[in-house]
Parts: sequence; C-alpha cells; structure tokens
Amino acid sequence: TVSALDSGEEAAPERPAVMLVFRDLTEERRLEMMRADFVSNASHELRTPLASLLGFIETLQGPARGDEKARERFLDIMREQARRMARLIDDLLSLSRIEMSEHRRPETPIDLADLARQTVETMRKAAEDRGVAVAFSAPDGPLVVPGERDDLIRVVENLVENAVKYGGDGGRVEVTARRIATTTGPAAELAVRDFGPGIAPEHLPRLTERFYRVDTAASRAKGGTGLGLAIVKHIVIRHRGRLAMESKPGEGATFRAIFPLDPA
Ligand code: ADP
Repeated sequence: TVSALDSGEEAAPERPAVMLVFRDLTEERRLEMMRADFVSNASHELRTPLASLLGFIETLQGPARGDEKARERFLDIMREQARRMARLIDDLLSLSRIEMSEHRRPETPIDLADLARQTVETMRKAAEDRGVAVAFSAPDGPLVVPGERDDLIRVVENLVENAVKYGGDGGRVEVTARRIATTTGPAAELAVRDFGPGIAPEHLPRLTERFYRVDTAASRAKGGTGLGLAIVKHIVIRHRGRLAMESKPGEGATFRAIFPLDPA
C-alpha cells in the first residue's frame, strides 16, 4: 500500500485509513527503537569500565605480578572504575523507579525554598573545595508545592552538581527559589545559574535525553553518567512541572525547574 502511495498511483477510497495504520506502526516502531537504543547505550556504558577492570586484573595476575608500585596504581584506577559502574547502576535504578511511579502524583506539601536552602547547605563545602561559591536566595515565607521530598532534593542536587562541574570555571553558582506567575497559575521556580562556558544552542534541546552529553570524555572524567538531567526531567514532569534551559555560550547557563504551587 505504501509503495502504491509512493508511486503516485491514483488514490483508492480507503487510502486515509491505510495511512493511519501506517502512522501508528511508525510511532510504535519509534518507541521500540528508543528502548532498544537505551538498552544498547546502557550496556555499552557498563561494558567500558568492566573491560578496563578485566584488563587490569589480568595485568596484575600476569605481567605486573609482584610489582608493588603498579599494584597500588592499578588498584586506584580499578576502584574508580568500579565506582563509576555503581553510579551508573544507581542512576539507572532511579530512572526506572521514577518512570514506574510517573502516574502517581506526589502529594506531600513541601516548602521548596526551605528544601533548596537545606540541600545547598549540604553541598556548599564540596563546591568550595573545588573553588566554587554557591549562593542561595529566596523570598521570605514558604513556597509550598505538592511533592516528593527525596525527588525534589535530587533535582536541586543534580542541577547544582552540574553547575559546579561544568560551570565551575565561573567561580560561583547562584540558586534562587521564588514565586512566579504562569499561564496555568502561580508556580514555584527553582533556578540554578552558573557563569561557566555555557552550552551551544544546538545541544540545549537534547540535554535531557538519556546518555546525551556535549562532551562525553569530559563528562566521564568528571564522574558523569549522562543520566542526571534525564532524571531531573522525569521528576519535574511527575510533579506536573517543567524544565527550562537557557544559555549564552561564554556567559554560563541557567536551568529552571518550575512547579505548580499547592492550591491550598
Ligand atoms: P552528566 O552525567 O554527563 O553530567 P547530565 O544529564 O547531568 O549528565 O548532563 C548532560 C550534559 O549536559 C553534560 O554531559 C554536559 O555536557 C551538559 N551540561 C549539563 N549542565 C551543564 C552546565 N551547567 N553547563 C554546561 N554544560 C552542562
């Protein structure tokens, strides 16, 4: 039927119905390919550190046997590779847990300003050690959203971690929680701004895709799994919110998570 359409033959009366079936299959096929792609990416990401671990083990059992110096050095690398696998598995499990609970809306009233302030507090020292000052500001009074505490903490952590990791050159990160008006009503906005190199516009729309990175080697070197923003996006969607990203290359990046306020 498709080839009939392609060859420009005269339309049969049932043509629209045929087109519809064709479209549905395409959508199903697209989802199937996305799933297959995800499994293949995840396997590859796990296989890389695993191959390196196996290589070092074989070297230690073979040519480097008895070489005390090599042993210490290799064990350090092996620990780092194993940690990387553990991080990846943790992120994969988080993603799957969030996806499975996507239909259940979070309902606990949570003061987003307070939660963000506390989370930033726990991260400040580690950022300072890397030469980055993290500032926090919020209006007086609570900003209550229906939410899931641990997931909202994760949003703040992932965004601030990225700002420090990729935008740390700027020396400071600003986190702001405030009330804003949107077309769908009042909302709480959590903004994380950095003053680093920023992100070129062609990458912005793809950053929340699983395993999408602007620079894979740089992300890996900084301990990234490529899943952080995918996790953030899923959490925000489950909270009926949205994630907005802006960047001027050379001037830093701003990530905003926007959540509808608790109607009560
Ligand atoms: P990763 O584990 O690689 O950090 P993320 O999903 O958190 O994965 O981010 C995806 C990619 O987006 C990163 O690899 C990085 O290239 C880019 N990115 C994220 N945040 C920033 C930022 N604040 N400044 C510049 N690039 C960023």
